[in-house]
Formats: sequence, structure tokens, C-alpha cells
Amino acid sequence: MAVLKDINTVDALIDMVFSYNPESDANLLRRAYAFSNEAHYRQKRKDGEPFIEHPLAVAAILCEMRMDTNTIAAGLLHDTIEDTDTTVEDIKELFGDDIAFLVESLTKLSRMEFRTSEDAQAENFRKMLLAMAEDMRVVLIKFADRLHNMRTLEHLSADKREKISRETLEIYAPLANRLGIGWLKSEFEDLSFKFLLPEMYEQLVQKVAKKKEEQEGYLSEVIQIVEAHIKADSIPARVFGRVKHYHGIFQKMQKQRIPFEQVFDVIAIRIITDTPSNCYGILGLIHSLWTPVPGRFKDFIGAPKSNLYQSLHTTIIGPRGERVEFQIRTEEMNRIAEEGIAAHWKYKERDYSEKLDEKYFTWLRELVKAQKDTPDAKAFLEEVKGNISQQGVVYVFTPEGDIVELPLDATPVDFAYSIHTAVGHQCIGAKVNGKIVPLRHKMQNGDTVEIITSQGHGPSRDWLKFVTTQRAKSRIKQWLKIEERKKGLTLGEELLAKALRRYNLSPALAKSKDILEAARAYKIQTHEDLLVAIGYGRVSVHKIVRKLLPEPEKDETEKLPAKKEVQKPEEGKGIKIKGVDNIMFHRSKCCYPLPGEKVAGFVTRGRGISIHTSDCPTLDTQTIDVDRLVEVEWAGGGDTTYAVKIQVLTIDKRGLLAEMSAVLSTNNVNISHLEASTTHEKQALFNFMLDIKDKRQLDEVIKKLSQINGIIDVKRVKT
Ligand code: MN
Repeated sequence: MAVLKDINTVDALIDMVFSYNPESDANLLRRAYAFSNEAHYRQKRKDGEPFIEHPLAVAAILCEMRMDTNTIAAGLLHDTIEDTDTTVEDIKELFGDDIAFLVESLTKLSRMEFRTSEDAQAENFRKMLLAMAEDMRVVLIKFADRLHNMRTLEHLSADKREKISRETLEIYAPLANRLGIGWLKSEFEDLSFKFLLPEMYEQLVQKVAKKKEEQEGYLSEVIQIVEAHIKADSIPARVFGRVKHYHGIFQKMQKQRIPFEQVFDVIAIRIITDTPSNCYGILGLIHSLWTPVPGRFKDFIGAPKSNLYQSLHTTIIGPRGERVEFQIRTEEMNRIAEEGIAAHWKYKERDYSEKLDEKYFTWLRELVKAQKDTPDAKAFLEEVKGNISQQGVVYVFTPEGDIVELPLDATPVDFAYSIHTAVGHQCIGAKVNGKIVPLRHKMQNGDTVEIITSQGHGPSRDWLKFVTTQRAKSRIKQWLKIEERKKGLTLGEELLAKALRRYNLSPALAKSKDILEAARAYKIQTHEDLLVAIGYGRVSVHKIVRKLLPEPEKDETEKLPAKKEVQKPEEGKGIKIKGVDNIMFHRSKCCYPLPGEKVAGFVTRGRGISIHTSDCPTLDTQTIDVDRLVEVEWAGGGDTTYAVKIQVLTIDKRGLLAEMSAVLSTNNVNISHLEASTTHEKQALFNFMLDIKDKRQLDEVIKKLSQINGIIDVKRVKT
């Protein structure tokens, strides 16, 4: 969209508004201009020009977007509350509720700006989305404001230029793209590109100009051929060459790691016709004239992009073997591609197509919903950025036939989370086109995906290795964080209670101010945080509790007082720490400890206590944090069995396996897994995974197996 440089007076602005909206209230615009001019009269822009130029330029941009009169008036007034002593009430009184609402919303947005921290930027962005959900016009005015600031950015200091350009490139451009406003996205990107990489930008401008000159003859030859054929078929159409925007070319060079000379679609030929079926007609015609390049044809008419962009794209091998890209669309599609959501906000068309509107707003509503699920502003920004800058996509179907757009390489887990967070969490399997697939399966265009869920099921940390959408990533991380915190909290509570008992201290200290004081060095503020830190193994419970001991005894604190307080192990439970519940335990997979063996516990970071045999090399006290070791002992009795690996070396003789199985079954030992192989020396090697009750039973079984004729060696495997 061309900049109308000559709008530098309110009369020019009003003329422009009247050119598309003869019923506009010229008087209102004149009053808004006068008010703004008066309010800002002392201010100057950084380039020394009177400040009023800025609101006037913003209003002119809104006018090019063919906005209604209130929006344009709000554009004129947008900085008055922020920069002058004007109040909302002033605006309300003079210009009414609607304009006052718009100006106030913009003021709230701009108060968030130019903060340095990433968090503030994220928060700013979140506010913008919320404002947008409330009234899209606020964001359109914000866009116009940012655009004029970008167009005049050279007057600011270098670091401000860089900061604002980066924000424009990372937030404003993707957002404009997501709302389908193609011209704005391109201009945001090119202006940011110009200020962030000035030399690269300058080079590209020159190269593109040169290429345009070189290709002019060739393209007009192609255009003439196409035009002649379209005419012969009596299809109404305009055919013209169109240069890709600079940042788009730059992105392509980076993504495909190619020099400018190898970017073949710097100039594309665009064909605008009247109906969708004529689009396909023209496509057929082009494909019959030249060979299409496989994989380059894209039908965004049949399957529009999520920002409602529609067009047919194809690349063909043109005359003398040169590649040419075509974009074919209707006038209406072209308008939507350029103006996006703004196309529906026009002054007169307040009853714009419900269906289009619904599509934009479904997305927006989901974002706002996501914002509620993701209280962390930064995580939310990451998620949104991921969502709106997604380039390569696959389209898959729900079992009901609804289309879902996902990034390339998306998995069923991504799909599940895109439907609903709960579907993601409870996802245990997936069917693609009726067949069960692994959750890491990469979906293809056109797949029909069905998610199998199970209530009460939770996501796995492994999923993070293969999901591609930010949405899935942040939901999984959030869930894990909450779960781990819960676990850490329970364990921390128990470890602290135990330590207090051990030092003969009152259990009430766990909730005292003193204990927070003792934990101050760890920057811990609340009791809950302290318990979590202990449970995660981040903070040593002994170090904290020792600080609570009365003064005179402090020297002796290295000795552990009151050691004996052993309780009789509870019946029926496998493992037990004195006074601690066994929910949080797991047998370590390095040594597979068994009841009857001496064991020790180690507080892991976030996964509870792992139980090792006390001679396990993992527990080598030279290398681990001794403060995280806890005493553990086995509970007696019960029917619990534990997996144990044993390895049996035999001579290669038939019937031995049957004999071994018989020994195991008479000893009531179940085989849960078995692998057998033969060695070169006519020997056989069996790897058993057995369910064993305790050390005594294991010793007995090993002894009995060793006595079988033909067995060379039986040993327990501890890796
Ligand atoms: Mn402004």
C-alpha cells in the first residue's frame, strides 16, 4: 500500500476519508485534530518537526486502511492522554464513549512500551492480545502508530532503533501476518530489516533492482504468452510481475543457505481473475503450456492458510528452461491477502461476513484462553510467537473431518494438545488413517488423526523430545512442573519432619519464622518453597536444621544426636525410611536392590528418593552430595516382588531351559523376560528377568540353578 505523503493537513485527511466514505463526520475529525494539535503544541518529534505530524500520519494510515471515522479520530488523539495532561474524561466529554475507550486502551498499551526486560515485553504483548480480543480497532491503531514510528525511526538513537526494530520484527510483523494484513507484515519486516542489518538490506535493494532490469524482457515475454491464451479462452484477468519483499528474499536465502543469485522467485507473476473456478482454469492453462515443477504447486484456495490467505501457487519451467512462479487468485482473495482482518472493518461494512470474522476470532479466543492457562507471560509469548510465525505446515483431519493446521513434523501429541489441553495430557495413543502409530509419528498432509485417551493419565517428559508446537511444549512443561512440585513438597515435608525428630527439635519449627531465617541464604521466601527445595534436593535439610539448634551445642552439631528412634517397619510395604511414606521411592536401575540387602537412599532432584544397594558404585561418597543421603531400611514381610536380572551360562544342550524353568517354578519365581543366545564355543547364554521377593530367595534360586547338570555359571547382573 503506497504511502500518501501529501496528507499533511487535516483537509487532505478529510478529502481522503470522503473519497471512500462520503457520510463521514468531517466536523468530528476537524475537532479531534484541533484538540490534539492544542494538547501537543509544546512537543516536538525527534526530527524537530511539530508533534502533530505523528498523530496526523497515524490517522492517514488508518484512512488508507479505510477505517471508520471514530477509529481515525482516535488515531488523531491516540497520544493525548499519554503525553499531555488530557484525561479520559476530557476525551469522553468531547468525543464520546467509543473514541474515549479506544484512546484509553491505546494509552494502557503504550505505557507498557520501551521496557528493557524480556518479561515486560512479554507482558506488553499479552496486553495487546487482550486489547485485541476486546476490540480489534485498538490493535489496528497500534499498528498504524508503530508503522509511522518505524518509518521515522532513523531519528532515534542506535540502541532504541535496534530495540524497536527487533520488537517489530518479532511481534508486530507476525501478528500482522496472523491477521492477514499482508502489506503491513511486509512493511514491518522490511523496515526492521533495514535498521537491523543496514548493509545487507542495501545490497539486496541493489541486487533486486538489477535483477528486475535483467528479467524484465523475459517476464514480459512470459506474460504476453499467458495473456494471449487467457484472452483466447475469454477469461477476464490482469497479469503482472510482482517483486517479493526484501526480508522475504533474505529469509529464503538464509533458510535454504543459498546466495541471492539462486533465489529464482524474486519476481513472481500474479494473475488476478474473477472467480475461483477461473483460477483453476488459468492454472490448467499454464500447466498445459509449460511443465510444472513437482512439489511446488500449492492450493490455498481449497485449503486456505489459517490467516485466510487464498491463492494458487505454482512454479513452471518457462521458455529457455527458466523457472517462473505464478500466483493466481480472485480480486476478493487479493484484497483479503493485502488487508486481512482490516478488510472486514471498513467504515460501512460493520455487518462483514460472519464466517470470516468467526475464523479470526476462533484463533484469538484460543489465544486468550491459552493466556489464562499459561500465567507465565514469557512462556505465553514464546507460545504465541511459535504459533504465528509458523511457516511450513501440514493439514490433518479430525475423525469428524475438521481440518487442523500444524507445523511440519507435528506428531499426534501436538495434534492432541491443539484440540484441548486435557486431550493432550490424557493422550496414550493415536491412530493415523485407522492404524495405531507411535506418539512420535510424524503426520503427513491429509492424514486423519484419532487420539486415544485415558483418564487420569499424564504427559511424559520424553514427549518434549519430539513435539514441535510451542503449545504442546509449554503445556507439558507446565504439567511436569506442577507434578514435580507436588512430589517435591510431599517429600520435603517428610524429610524435614524426620530431621527435626532426629535432632530432638519441635515439629512446630517446620512452620516457624526461624526456619525461614535459617534458609535465607538460599533466597527462600515461603515455607512451601522451602519444602519443595528440600524435596528437590536443592537445599540440604541437615544444614537448615542444624542452624536451628540452640547456641551452645552448635560446635557439636556435626555429631548426629538422638540417632535411635527406629520404628518397626510397617507390614505389607516394600521399602521404608524411618517415618517416611514410601510413595516417593524407586529402586535404582543400576543395582536393583532387594529386601535383605543393605540399602541407602539418595534424594534425587525432583524424582523422589532412589534406593541403591549400600555398596553401589553410584553412591560413591567421593562424588555425591552426602547431605542428600538418607537412611533406608526394608520393611519385612509382604508379597511384593522385585525385578532382578540374572545371567546363566550353559553348555549348548537341549532341555536345559525346561530344567531351569522347573527349578524357578518350584521356588515360586516368575520369569518376566527371557533372552537366549548361543556363543561360538558351543555354549548358550540366558538372560532372565525374574520377580524375586528378597535376597534369600535369590540366593536360593542361584544355588539351585548352579546345581543343574550342564550349567557353567549363574550370576546376578547389576547394571
Ligand atoms: Mn504514537
